[in-house]
Amino acid sequence: MSADRVPDCLFCRIVARELPSAVVKEDTAVLAIRDIAPRAPTHVLLMPKRHITSAADLSVEDGELLGRIFAMGAEIARGQGIATAGYRIVTNVGTWGGQTVDHLHFHLMGGRAFGWPPG
Ligand code: 5GP
Ligand code: ZN
Repeated sequence: MSADRVPDCLFCRIVARELPSAVVKEDTAVLAIRDIAPRAPTHVLLMPKRHITSAADLSVEDGELLGRIFAMGAEIARGQGIATAGYRIVTNVGTWGGQTVDHLHFHLMGGRAFGWPPG
């Protein structure tokens, strides 16, 4: 599902500044905030400002948006000093994928080594 905004969506409310968050970076279409329960020394969430439920709802028309998200992720990684060692960008889809907030977001995680495959 894709919409400008969905009532009662946690991340739509954060985007609208109805709820507080630690903003790392933003542009007109993308917001990057610190995860409230970080699982790594650097744990940032990158999300589109408009509501897209998950990666399963993306289409070819979202190519520019995805480019913005990944470019911003790389910029943040460089700024946080985790780019050289390497880091992970991941998005969870649906219940078995581990998605708990139904507004598309990418976890940018770094500052430690990660195992593969994820648990
Ligand atoms: P998911 O489980 O959907 O892949 O990721 C949701 C992420 O959002 C989790 O890592 C969780 O810690 C984070 N999160 C949940 N509620 C909030 C909140 O109110 N503010 C922030 N900044 N992060 C949140
Ligand atoms: Zn939303």
